Amino acid sequence: MRLTKIVATLGPASLSVPGIQSLVSAGVSVFRLNCSHLSTQDLPELIALVREAAPEAGVMVDIQGPKLRFAPESIDLVNDSVVSYKLSDLGIETSDATDSRGLEVGHRILMDDGRIETVVENVDGERFSVRVRRGGFLQHGKGVNLPDTEVRGSLLSDKDLADVAVARDLGVEIVAVSFVQTPSDILSIRELIGDDILLFAKIERPQALERIDEICAVSDGVMAARGDLGVETPYESVPAAQTRIALSALRHGVVSICATEMLESMTTSSRPTRAEVADVSGAVRDGFDAVMLSGETAVGLHPAEAVRAMARICEESEKHVAMANYFADANPGAAAVTAAASALAKRTSAKFILSISLTGFSARLMASCRPSCPIVAITPSADRSRRLNVNRGVYPLVLERDRNFTSAVTSAIQLTKEINMLKSGDEIVVCASRLHPRSDADTILLHREPD
Ligand code: PGA
Ligand code: MN
Repeated sequence: MRLTKIVATLGPASLSVPGIQSLVSAGVSVFRLNCSHLSTQDLPELIALVREAAPEAGVMVDIQGPKLRFAPESIDLVNDSVVSYKLSDLGIETSDATDSRGLEVGHRILMDDGRIETVVENVDGERFSVRVRRGGFLQHGKGVNLPDTEVRGSLLSDKDLADVAVARDLGVEIVAVSFVQTPSDILSIRELIGDDILLFAKIERPQALERIDEICAVSDGVMAARGDLGVETPYESVPAAQTRIALSALRHGVVSICATEMLESMTTSSRPTRAEVADVSGAVRDGFDAVMLSGETAVGLHPAEAVRAMARICEESEKHVAMANYFADANPGAAAVTAAASALAKRTSAKFILSISLTGFSARLMASCRPSCPIVAITPSADRSRRLNVNRGVYPLVLERDRNFTSAVTSAIQLTKEINMLKSGDEIVVCASRLHPRSDADTILLHREPD
């Protein structure tokens, strides 16, 4: 049983009932809808399509945030020339012409994935001029990155707010937010969506990387968004950054996703490059909960093959990785019972841990302890179950909770037998709470199924 989860981005190559179902069969447990490429009007229909095709899968709505684009006509930027612009030319909406929104002299402005580099020489309210350091032909609409600038003011456009509202009203599992800079970016969206939707911060700005621990403390998950991160910071620093993001998430007991270009060549090729295989394997070693596919499944020629390749690489890599329990080390009190259950499972080589949970909280804690075996998580409702799809090692199942502790355990064990997970002679660890309702576990049982 594979532990690392696979998130797949949907797009023209996969947006159909059979397309989505073939990705589920190949190993996807969460589908990402990327709002950068979708209109708010289309979003409800697309969410309904995923629900129809894959009722047990999780849905992640990825909010575009301030993805800046070069708005003026295309221009040839000549080395060492000086050019004047307004903030709105970069896609920064301004209502106050005297506010430079945090842009200062000396800040770099990068364009077209960092291919073109300019430096701010002068700032006067919303107007500024740049000197071209590394020039070239800049096309209208190309991406703009401001690696040195902490942009002041609201990050969200009207479209972002509308997308967030649709995600909330339709009850998706995850909202991911692009270009997060500070913990308060997350807190302000939390106010809009409430506590029932998982909120993930995409780490793609150096400002967010610097405050990764604070951001993990207020988020349900983080994504190493290596595409923009590799533009805003030198690309050679991305591998260390991704390890740091995974580790911070582990310590805080939140979910982590490694994203972008993981099997990029499979957008056109039916087999990954060896370097890509090593990259996916590295993400497993870093301890990420999930690995993500972007263009490979959204616009690629071989979406299901890409997922199958990813699943194979993860499963093989996991055989050679023993994760430390960073979560329990960082939170000795909070994780005492789950950490003990996880350690017991390792010592007894248990086939799986059966986590009987009301909200899914204790199953999530268990996943953060990174046991060496899968976690079968029992919750009483489909929506709670779907939210566990992104956690490493968690296989969610739905079962109504019996108020009596002994019969709750017995019926959960019975369910795993019925679906052929538990077989004669198997040993498992059961972790649950005797007090009802209580979301964190207080009881550990070692169960051996008679021969
Ligand atoms: P994007 O985010 O695909 O929305 O740009 C991921 C990344 O930047 O890596
Ligand atoms: Mn990005």
